[in-house]
Amino acid sequence: MSKTVVILGGSIAGLHVAHALLKKQIKDTKVILVSKNSHFYWNLASVRAIIPGQITDEQLFQPLQTALSRYPAESWELVIGSASKADFGAKTVEITLPDNTTRALPYHQLVLATGARSSSPDTPWKSPGTYEETLASLHDTAARVTNAQHIVVAGAGSTGIEVAGELGYEYGKTKEIILLCSGDKVAGGSSLADAAANELKKLNVTIKYGAHVQETRPGTGDAQGKTEVVFTGGETLATDLYLPTTGLIPNTEYIPSQFLGPGEVARPVLVDEFLRVPETEEVWACGDIVSKPRAGFFITQKQAISVAKNVEAALAGLKPTVAKGPPMDILACAVGRERGVGRINNTIKMPSFMVWAAKGRTLALPMVKTYIDGSVA
Ligand SMILES: Cc1cc2nc3c(=O)[nH]c(=O)nc-3n(C[C@H](O)[C@H](O)[C@H](O)COP(=O)(O)OP(=O)(O)OC[C@H]3O[C@@H](n4cnc5c(N)ncnc54)[C@H](O)[C@@H]3O)c2cc1C
Repeated sequence: MSKTVVILGGSIAGLHVAHALLKKQIKDTKVILVSKNSHFYWNLASVRAIIPGQITDEQLFQPLQTALSRYPAESWELVIGSASKADFGAKTVEITLPDNTTRALPYHQLVLATGARSSSPDTPWKSPGTYEETLASLHDTAARVTNAQHIVVAGAGSTGIEVAGELGYEYGKTKEIILLCSGDKVAGGSSLADAAANELKKLNVTIKYGAHVQETRPGTGDAQGKTEVVFTGGETLATDLYLPTTGLIPNTEYIPSQFLGPGEVARPVLVDEFLRVPETEEVWACGDIVSKPRAGFFITQKQAISVAKNVEAALAGLKPTVAKGPPMDILACAVGRERGVGRINNTIKMPSFMVWAAKGRTLALPMVKTYIDGSVA
């Protein structure tokens, strides 16, 4: 009997698993990749893509169809749509298609790789929806960056540091760039905090510490046409462009709540040491939908490798193996186009030139090719 593997999410995690399985051409097995976005999106470079003229759409986006077309046609199917309901008992997922009709997909093995979205839906740091919506969000942000004289970046985690760094590098001498940090150190006070703050200062980025945003609202009076940022305590700041970078929400709304972690909004899916959803035999998850130990590219890659191996084992009736994480925890932030800060295992500081060479120079854009030609897996 032929078997179906359904993979939900066509980004770094899902496409990796699809390549790993399709390369094996497992006998009598079809892989169905379901993705809201018809294109693979290299979101890691979105921080620079908002600076007009730096990165082309083709460098950032490539069609998923191209990635899968290298495999025999009978071994795969690409479904553009959104997973809207999963029934792990009946082993089916409901997909809402672009014309709003639904299609039920039965599966033998299911991989959950729908990642996480930014809590501010009109930002392009993660794919906010379809290809067209993601492209529009990027282009719109780039246009607003061009027209703004005063820009506030909210959130001084790694995305906020990188966004502020790119803006400072391009416009530090001509526009006012402010980074809001809720604590007294950027990067959550981690070992790269002071280095990141120094690099941002060199790019003329002003860091406002202890800044808790209560709300933003359209400006009135002298601030007409601007956004007014209101801080707890009542202080306000009018800006031409407010760019929030805080908060990731796992895309798990289609998963029954008993399989999700606690919380009201941000509820990642639960997994065991095999990256299998507890109380199921054939549902696996990897990447930012798991967000464990944290949401990160290298962690996602390692998890995708483990999930592909365990799905292959399950199809052969074999037991799963414990998932392995990366050998070390690396966090690297580009700060503009020429410098960066980073740390290995929270103890070893990476020199600026090393972060630039490994990340900041290209923001790893050459990796896109490996996800399209399959060499990543
Ligand atoms: C600006 C930025 C820079 C980053 N830089 C780094 C870095 O330098 N190093 C690092 O380690 N990590 C970095 N990360 C983290 C990294 O981007 C993520 O860990 C990675 O994208 C996770 O991939 P994923 O496939 O799990 O999820 P995602 O990238 O979130 O992709 C999920 C996919 O699923 C789709 N989807 C969502 N819901 C549904 C649904 N219901 N049905 C079907 N499809 C759906 C989405 O459209 C998307 O295509 C960065 C993150 C950001 C935001």
